Amino acid sequence: MLGAIIGDIVGSRFEFDQKPTEDFELFSDDCSYTDDTICTVAIADAILNGKPYKDSLLDWCHRYPNPMGGYGAMFHQWLESANPLPVASYGNGSAMRVSPVGWLFNEYQDVLSQAKQSAECSHCHSEGIKGAQCVATLVYWLRTCRITRDEVEGAVARNFGYELPPLKDINRLGSLGHFDSTCQETVPWAIRCFLESNSFEDAIRIAVMAQGDTDTKAAITGAIAEAYYEVPTEIAQKAFSYLPAEVLDILQQFYKRLEETM
Ligand SMILES: [Mg+2]
Repeated sequence: MLGAIIGDIVGSRFEFDQKPTEDFELFSDDCSYTDDTICTVAIADAILNGKPYKDSLLDWCHRYPNPMGGYGAMFHQWLESANPLPVASYGNGSAMRVSPVGWLFNEYQDVLSQAKQSAECSHCHSEGIKGAQCVATLVYWLRTCRITRDEVEGAVARNFGYELPPLKDINRLGSLGHFDSTCQETVPWAIRCFLESNSFEDAIRIAVMAQGDTDTKAAITGAIAEAYYEVPTEIAQKAFSYLPAEVLDILQQFYKRLEETM
């Protein structure tokens, strides 16, 4: 969960801009949390405090109506609708917010079913649900050491049917002006960025520098990387300094629950 928030904050200033080169500053005054953080916190709050996913998403997104970069067009319509009903969306929003599910449930079947529920209140297309299930499952598998890193690529292909393009192909595709914010693109690209990394910070850097939907790809890569590596304290502390008090409060509840249940 914190990994997703860190990826979001670090990637935020490059979402609509030129991708940075190596050794870029992780945090600057131009960074902010964006929709990926707000929606991730909404999912955590739902689980921690027994609220329906839909109610929690509406509540948090209405409290933060204009995060840096705004909300995706379809999701924004859903938020503003008088009666928000599930949309057949496969946008990557279902996958970028799901990491708390991979941490707060301890049975594989629960992870799958809760990831589905967290997605389908807004993103009910099978690809939107699959993207969320894949990210939550990877977080769960890696944090519980059910699979090794070397097994990730095969397990993702077998269980979710994603093929992970090599990093050089991701960057070639991107440089042709190709960009989309679907689960089908962002989830496998984010997993590849994690697999190329040798530390938490390295994973975030690779995801931010790679082509595609920068902050969301970095949020998903960060969520997966957090389940595998330690998040360095200095990076965590720096990220906390960008967050509103009520977001920090949910993070505190999240870590307390993990301590109680792990
Ligand atoms: Mg965003």
